[in-house]
Amino acid sequence: MTDLLHNQRALSTLRNLSQGGRLPHALLLEGPEGSGKKTLGRLFAQYALCQGEEKPCGICGACCKVEKGVHPDVILYQPAQGRKEFTIDLVRQLRQDAYIAPNEGFCKVYLLDKAHTMNTAAQNALLKLIEEPPADARFVLLCENRSMMLPTILSRVTSISLELPTVEECVQALEKLAPQASETQRQAAAAGAGGNVGRALGLLDSAKPSKAASDARQLQEALLFGSRYQALKVLAGYDRDREGLISCLVLLKEGLAGLASGRFGAGSPIEERILNRVTVGQALYAADAVDKAIVRAGQNVGVSLLCACMTEEIKGFLGG
Ligand SMILES: [Zn+2]
Repeated sequence: MTDLLHNQRALSTLRNLSQGGRLPHALLLEGPEGSGKKTLGRLFAQYALCQGEEKPCGICGACCKVEKGVHPDVILYQPAQGRKEFTIDLVRQLRQDAYIAPNEGFCKVYLLDKAHTMNTAAQNALLKLIEEPPADARFVLLCENRSMMLPTILSRVTSISLELPTVEECVQALEKLAPQASETQRQAAAAGAGGNVGRALGLLDSAKPSKAASDARQLQEALLFGSRYQALKVLAGYDRDREGLISCLVLLKEGLAGLASGRFGAGSPIEERILNRVTVGQALYAADAVDKAIVRAGQNVGVSLLCACMTEEIKGFLGG
């Protein structure tokens, strides 16, 4: 389950709605993949179904069942496996089901995953349902981009936006979730995953960071002492692995920035041959060029192009 700690605003909006007795019939949760939409959707279900005094109490039968994903009145609808679209047929099934009374709860809570993939006809079918909803049904639309929803739908829902954790927040989450990994590995994984905690855990699992670490060392060696060709040869391994490339570049940048601080005795000691090769200014300039490449990698610039530009910039500056 995605951590929601970084989404305090969304959490307090939901709490205020509940405390004011204004839990909406239709809620739209907008945010990128990995931002915690499903987790917040389940929390909404706890608010709606909790049998305790202070909702959600987290300990009553309903709260526990929602938490475990086994509450019969919390129902997930999503595009069928292998399909990219939330079809009108699915909306029709949902509509039929919504008029059947809840199994055991105060109401039924429908989570509609990837609602932004509905075409106009499907959205219009959904609109009819949320315009005059059955009294004991609630709908949570999970969507990556609200601009893909019809204005008529948006006017009928309460919207809450979710954000991805920052890379910093992702690193903090990984400290709890992956205590066995080193600080450097966690930072590389968090950066490589752009803050997406689930993906960062995947990166740590697949041991890519250790490959990235050894590649980052080779790359620094090639940039300082080798040829452009040697540097590009290391980078060529990442043609189809943008996340791995980012992990590697983050480590390279840390290494180069470390050369600057090490020179002042603040970081780890530096080999004599490296001290003789680069000045503090050169190391910082190179770290900056790597930083630019990391940003470009995050912006979907072609991997081979950005690797070539970065190598050329650094080599052109350092010479050799
Ligand atoms: Zn409860």
